[in-house]
Amino acid sequence: MHNQDQALIFELSTPGRIGYSLPEMDVPELDLEGLLPEGYLRSEEPGLPEVSELDIMRHYTALSRRNHGVDSGFYPLGSCTMKYNPKINENVARFNGFAHVHPLQDESSVQGALELLYDLQEHLIEITGMDEVTLQPAAGAHGEWTGLMMIRAYHEANGDLKRTKVIVPDSAHGTNPASATVAGLETITVKSNENGLVDLDDLRRVVGEDTAALMLTNPNTLGLFEENIVEMAEIVHAAGGKLYYDGANLNAVLSKARPGDMGFDVVHLNLHKTFTGPHGGGGPGSGPVGVKADLIPFLPKPVITKRGEEFVFDYDRPQSIGRVKPYYGNFGINVRAYTYIRSMGPDGLKAVTEYAVLNANYMMRRLAEYYDLPFDKHCKHEFVLSGRRQKKLGVRTLDIAKRLLDFGYHPPTIYFPLNVEECIMIEPTETESKETLDSFVDIMIQIAKEAEENPEIVQEAPHTTVVGRMDEATAARKPILKYQKA
Ligand SMILES: *Cc1c(COP(=O)(O)O)cnc(C)c1O
Repeated sequence: MHNQDQALIFELSTPGRIGYSLPEMDVPELDLEGLLPEGYLRSEEPGLPEVSELDIMRHYTALSRRNHGVDSGFYPLGSCTMKYNPKINENVARFNGFAHVHPLQDESSVQGALELLYDLQEHLIEITGMDEVTLQPAAGAHGEWTGLMMIRAYHEANGDLKRTKVIVPDSAHGTNPASATVAGLETITVKSNENGLVDLDDLRRVVGEDTAALMLTNPNTLGLFEENIVEMAEIVHAAGGKLYYDGANLNAVLSKARPGDMGFDVVHLNLHKTFTGPHGGGGPGSGPVGVKADLIPFLPKPVITKRGEEFVFDYDRPQSIGRVKPYYGNFGINVRAYTYIRSMGPDGLKAVTEYAVLNANYMMRRLAEYYDLPFDKHCKHEFVLSGRRQKKLGVRTLDIAKRLLDFGYHPPTIYFPLNVEECIMIEPTETESKETLDSFVDIMIQIAKEAEENPEIVQEAPHTTVVGRMDEATAARKPILKYQKA
């Protein structure tokens, strides 16, 4: 199958073929003239595809099979935590009492839903070591922005108006500087050292009276635990700044270490990553934010709280940054995360971290002989390789990623983080078997050998997919979303 042929097969319309059967009309045809404003009436046939019911069934089923998902294959997309989403989560989210509540119902009629949210907050407080949690933000980036807005409000409430700078490491996820900008703050970059960790001397140099916060991902995007995290917290606090913990990588420390205990003031979690909300299609997500006591007054309102035996929305929050999401967060994802936490239990959550880290280290060691390992040390839940050895042979990291498609794998994250040349970032997660890890590693080794012996096969990949290499920028900026009759 090649691109052009496929485009031809895609056109299934045959004049006169229909995919429906309607009863004979037994009422007079409505005269639309005069009913609709001038110009709203269609003057030509709509030009819809003319297909049978079976044609259309096969068309959509075929399209659905072209998708790759965690349920169809290995998905080691670094930084995204594409773990298996247990199906019990779906069953619980579909309970009538959860799926059919209306966001405008009176509190007294949704006590169960509010109790679930309140209890989820309590669990996340325990997991993160913070004092209070909001479940409003709809994604990690949204949580970052919410947290930074609270930090900004805190400094402003103290009359500390010159604190407008957010320090972000050069290995940070792109959302960090973006969130700082949207929160009206300015980003200052702090360098990583040769070990891939934040350079403390550089941190001391950039921190100061204008520091609003340090934003840190831990383990960082290289999969490395920031060893000097307590010292970093001390440096920033001594300068009067707040500490923001990007908790997207919680899968590496869950039930082992807590941002609150490391000295952090704010943390966001990605429930769709660590706590199994399905997120391959880009959402919906949930990005709760936890804060220490002195930031509680600034939490988005309403806050879900308990009065006696009753769960209520508390709007009486004069210093709140306001609502950050209509209604109250992405309820369905919060139900799934709650189900996951309760079904795993504390020992289960500990095992998550242990296997996530073990799986990553196992793969890293097996691959280290064939690909450059820029930071040769114990990793956490993910690791980065560099394709620079293969690049010298004319095979780029992009080629390696495309070649993996031929074997039915979703490629790892590539060219990120930016501080590693020809970066390949692999996150296996805890839910994959040793057999799956081994099969993937075997293919990666085969590709490394192909780069030496037969580079064309990698350079010209993929060979087995319906479409080959696309112009991704054009595909994203000028998508064709409408059926156009050939
Ligand atoms: C995924 C991720 C984010 C952003 O989270 P979204 O839910 O995609 O908005 C932020 N930081 C890191 C380190 C991440 O991996």
